[in-house]
Amino acid sequence: MLPFLRPELANCQPYHPNPGGDAIALDILDTNECPYDLPIALKQTLAQRYVEAIAANRYPDGSHRDLKEAIADYLGEQTQGCWKPGLEHVTVGNGSDELIRSILIATCLGGQGSVLVADPTFSMYGIVAETLGIPVVRVGRDPQTWEMDLVAAEQAITQTEGVPVRLCFVVHPNSPTANPLTEAETDWLRQVPPQILVVIDEAYFEFSGETLLAELPQHPNWLITRTFSKALRLAAHRVGYGVGDPQLIAALEAIRLPYNLPTVAQLAATLALQSRSQLLSAIPELLVERDRLYHDLQALPQLQVWPSAANFLFVKANDSLRVTDLAAQLKAQGTLVRQTAGGLRITVGSPAENQRTLSHLQIAIAQTLQPLA
Ligand SMILES: *Cc1c(COP(=O)(O)O)cnc(C)c1O
Repeated sequence: MLPFLRPELANCQPYHPNPGGDAIALDILDTNECPYDLPIALKQTLAQRYVEAIAANRYPDGSHRDLKEAIADYLGEQTQGCWKPGLEHVTVGNGSDELIRSILIATCLGGQGSVLVADPTFSMYGIVAETLGIPVVRVGRDPQTWEMDLVAAEQAITQTEGVPVRLCFVVHPNSPTANPLTEAETDWLRQVPPQILVVIDEAYFEFSGETLLAELPQHPNWLITRTFSKALRLAAHRVGYGVGDPQLIAALEAIRLPYNLPTVAQLAATLALQSRSQLLSAIPELLVERDRLYHDLQALPQLQVWPSAANFLFVKANDSLRVTDLAAQLKAQGTLVRQTAGGLRITVGSPAENQRTLSHLQIAIAQTLQPLA
């Protein structure tokens, strides 16, 4: 280890993104993106704006004003008339990954707090916390319903030994298990004491249709995060946002780097929201496809598959099969899925991709089951 590096970095493992290079994958179903690119007319508008209206020699708008206005307008449709989000409720990040880091810095850095997560969940919370030397407290979930172990969670936030929990991340619906928050979980979040920040990651909101946004004003210790990387088809541009109490938003704005979001990314996200009815019109078909794939996978006795409120399915193999072998067999046939939490997380793709997922899985199961010669 290089002598100038912090020793704890020796244990940090990078997030393994899309395998580039050697992969010959046809179907990229490991990162839960939308299977459809931006419509060509939108791309052309974006390209034209780049040519005609963007000065490449100038820094981006560091206040993200136009984008925040578009986001506030979008959010206004989702509060059930309970309140009206404004620019002061919104912060924008270079992907919600950047927000995760800002949130950790704002709450837990320097030995001041630990972060609570319920495994299995999105791995970035733990990965980023560890790079910052922030302790991670992990509780479990029910292995059938995937509901958080709320008794353990309550114990974690009330214990008086060690570094106090200052932050709790939940995903709604969770990744990789695809379950939305239950009423019991939401009730628990409602009574988390005010000295702990609750982050509700709604990366898959556009698929689930479920949000806690309407309740936000009652909970100054809640922050909802979202992303443009999934339903809004902009993973290439790295845009995420957080919604919460103006004081919390002001703190997150103070932490972030001044020009964190390139001009083209801001423009792309603003255009995507202006065209949201077109972009989101693909979702009903994706949900039908998801349910079809769920039923088809349910019919395979070697697998267990869970219901999903998102655009992916979580699958485990019964005892006779090794998940690692299944993932390898799928990859060899050109279907990339994510192996995680002792199972496979499979993105719902286009109808043709989903058909291949099913047949490649059937072949993978048959090959994996074959007794070795
Ligand atoms: C995909 C995903 C995100 C999105 O992250 P970005 O950095 O905005 O691309 C955030 N949270 C969860 C749970 C996700 O699955």
